[in-house]
Amino acid sequence: MNTISGAPVALVTGAGRGIGRGIALALAERGWMVAINYRTNHAAAQAALDDVHAASGQGFLVRADIGNLDDHAPLLTAVLEHAGRLDVLVNNAGIAPRVRADMLHVSPESYDEVLGTNLRGTFFLTQRAARVMLALLEQQKIAAPKIITITSISAGTASPNRAEYCLSKAGLAMATALWAARLAEFGIAVYEIRPGIIETDMTASVHETYDRMIAGGLLPIARWGRPEDVGQAVAAIAAGAFPYSTGDVFYVDGGFHVSRL
Ligand code: NAP
Repeated sequence: MNTISGAPVALVTGAGRGIGRGIALALAERGWMVAINYRTNHAAAQAALDDVHAASGQGFLVRADIGNLDDHAPLLTAVLEHAGRLDVLVNNAGIAPRVRADMLHVSPESYDEVLGTNLRGTFFLTQRAARVMLALLEQQKIAAPKIITITSISAGTASPNRAEYCLSKAGLAMATALWAARLAEFGIAVYEIRPGIIETDMTASVHETYDRMIAGGLLPIARWGRPEDVGQAVAAIAAGAFPYSTGDVFYVDGGFHVSRL
């Protein structure tokens, strides 16, 4: 018997601020129950949940450090206890290097911190979430689950002043391909979204630089990206708009990736 009922559930990591908050809101506006994960900033996460409620959406907060593998099981247990199912995992949580250092001087500490959160943490959370999804599929509590990872144009664009970030995002691009290949037989689709230059806290320190570059013609669509631009893309994928696709890369970058002459 098919026991699927109630609103589908999406876990969005790093959803208190920035892009993750935009994703959580976009999903909540479309009827998803959103688990808003945050690491330290409870006030921001509460404000994100307030936004969800203001949009007549449903959600709840779950604290966990994605870079700490010990937090993963309690995170997923909390989602299941609260919502009873997990239909979509959105791997959004990520960090930039504390200092944009020339790769000739990148420290092992910065390398480990960035790779540890962005790549190692996301890989093992995905592994654990995939196992949960497989069990839920078996129990017929979900249908057509999806895993969506927010990488970056840095997955394919070399910035020698943040090599560890680029490496982490390139690794996540391959992780998406790997999970897509491994999970397709079970009906779990896996996608990558590559945002470009998005206006958030992460880019606040380089705002003027990017203002100048955008004004100088860097992007075919000559404006900053917004968290809701990424949110709309996630919502379309989560809604099942691409049933015969997996492992795909969706750019949300104002056309940055288009080679021009
Ligand atoms: P942001 O403004 O710095 O916000 C990051 C969010 O992630 C915060 O809510 C933070 O939680 C959370 N977070 C960070 N580390 C975490 C961890 N270990 N565990 C759980 N949550 C964690 O960043 P953003 O610009 O929105 O970026 C979001 C994602 O998009 C990142 O993966 C980033 O690499 C990617 N991206 C960003 C851009 C851009 O231009 N902004 C472009 C391409 C890709 P707290 O609030 O609790 O600290």
